[in-house]
Amino acid sequence: MARFAYVNGRYVDHLDASVHIEDRGYQLADGVYEVVGVRDGKLIDEKPHLDRLDRSLGELRIDWPVTRAALSFIIRELMRRNRLRDGLVYMQVTRGVARRDHAFPTNPVKPALVMTTKNTKPLGADVGAGVAVKSQPDIRWERCDIKTVALLPNVLAKQAARESGAYEAWLIDTDGCVTEGASTNAWIVTPEGELVTRQTDNGILAGITRGTLSAIADKLQLKFVERPFSLAEAKRAKEAFITSATSFVTPVVKIDGEPVGDGKPGATSRRLREEYVRFAEEGEAVT
Ligand code: PLP
Repeated sequence: MARFAYVNGRYVDHLDASVHIEDRGYQLADGVYEVVGVRDGKLIDEKPHLDRLDRSLGELRIDWPVTRAALSFIIRELMRRNRLRDGLVYMQVTRGVARRDHAFPTNPVKPALVMTTKNTKPLGADVGAGVAVKSQPDIRWERCDIKTVALLPNVLAKQAARESGAYEAWLIDTDGCVTEGASTNAWIVTPEGELVTRQTDNGILAGITRGTLSAIADKLQLKFVERPFSLAEAKRAKEAFITSATSFVTPVVKIDGEPVGDGKPGATSRRLREEYVRFAEEGEAVT
């Protein structure tokens, strides 16, 4: 099957897709991105993802490369061309192409937009065996609320996790608290059954899956608490899990080699995964 990518106004063969070497995303990581899940041909939470893109662009004073309506059209056209039923749509906007200088270009440049899709196996309600995480120091900058393409600390943390046999890294701040994963939000279920995840501020990315799951938790009448939690508390938790557009809700069964709870995916994580998959399939807002 031919695979297309969208690059600055054109749908091109994925193998031939390229950007200019002076693109500020390539040279300076001066850009932002979004990843939207697709389930059974439907986009999951398109609106909040595009709202977050709008916010990221605004924080960095990058203009929209096309109108929001045009972006939605391009997403659908690329999905259609790539016959995407289940998987992900990746979109990236950079400040554009200009002679290299740290400061913004003085002559207005057009922001650059690229988009790709990825087919994946549909994520089902079954959580499987769960995953292991490894703690890593959170060495990122102080604007982790912006979804920028500057991901080197995340890359290094994820690589350290993978080299130790873990799936994800949990990032630890200077107070010993878990901020989030390298590419996921981090949650625990306390012995009292409360769902805990760190509050959203400049220290983490406000995950769209996280937001939807908090609405699902409300619907299920689970107590949802936003507060810092330490690595030590996470290790004593009844359950733990991660959320993202890519992993939905995935139980964490081991932290730094130590089992969480009985070392198996817990009932709350399994229930939340089921509800999230139902939400993704129905393509409706939870609230
Ligand atoms: N935190 C970080 C650092 C991420 O990179 C991501 C997703 O890429 C998330 C959290 C989860 O966000 P979302 O649920 O919107 O995919």
